[in-house]
Amino acid sequence: MRALVGLAIAKSLYQRPCWTQIVSLAQEHDALRQALGGEVPSVHACYRFTKKLIKYKSLRADCADRLLASLKELRPEMGENIAIDGSALHAYANGHKTTIHNGRERKPEEFSDPDASWGHQSATSTEGRGRSIYGHRLHMAACTATDLPVAWHLSTARDSEKPVASGLLDKTRQRGFAAQTCAMDKGYDAESTYEEFEARDCHPVIPLMRTGFVKQGRHLPHECRHGTWVFGGSDYKRKAAKWRCPTGECEVSNRWVPASRLHTLIPRTTDRWFKLKRGRSSVEREFGRLKDGYGLRTIRVRGIEKVRLHADLTILTRLASYLANSRGFQ
Ligand SMILES: [Zn+2]
Repeated sequence: MRALVGLAIAKSLYQRPCWTQIVSLAQEHDALRQALGGEVPSVHACYRFTKKLIKYKSLRADCADRLLASLKELRPEMGENIAIDGSALHAYANGHKTTIHNGRERKPEEFSDPDASWGHQSATSTEGRGRSIYGHRLHMAACTATDLPVAWHLSTARDSEKPVASGLLDKTRQRGFAAQTCAMDKGYDAESTYEEFEARDCHPVIPLMRTGFVKQGRHLPHECRHGTWVFGGSDYKRKAAKWRCPTGECEVSNRWVPASRLHTLIPRTTDRWFKLKRGRSSVEREFGRLKDGYGLRTIRVRGIEKVRLHADLTILTRLASYLANSRGFQ
């Protein structure tokens, strides 16, 4: 069992997409074999292990809970502020609608991964524009202080990111993290996101999309003949922000503005908001690290439960190696 767990960790650390490859690496790699306890499990043993790991999904979640609890002990500030995003992963399957270019349409049973679907992948630094990807989508909440994933969910690529966000927040809280604020990109900018997050006492930090109301300037602070009204602090219990006349000469010189998409409790004009917004890069960095440093990108399995196992094992390895390094092991 110890060797199998070790092999699963080595699989992500050495970025081997399938068991066959990591088994053969361990066989020819003396130090790795010693680290596994001297014996390398067979490929068949690995696949039996995989079946059990898929069946006992809750044990994987327990493992994540315990790793994150140990990490929180080490870094008490962990998870105070989080960032949420989704990222698409290519399936190990062909998603084309026709058999050949302009050929006949493929039947449903001709798609080798029935759980994969076409979804949108946003632009990255090296890929200037967004594009369609056939595969799955990993939704993740990361701690902005450590970049570490604190909650995640894997769905098919077609699934929207918005409805998953509040579930990720709930999972983050269940794991004992405060998550007082959450940074997200414009894709999450919908009234429902603000309502769901404020109802859970987590303040969303999301840039505004240029919708009709924004074009009309409905998100701007109130103006009077003395100038633009200034922010005077928020009452988080009351769910409202106080704004006042710059000189205080107005008859009604201050007003409580209830929290909404256009008027957030941490106003978009404050330094605090800008600082928190920058925290969003942590989840993007973490996707990059998982994909290119821990082999999350290369999927060699089909079916959502197997892809979920691949994502879980990759993230568990990331958390475990961070914990080991922090404790001083190499
Ligand atoms: Zn005034």
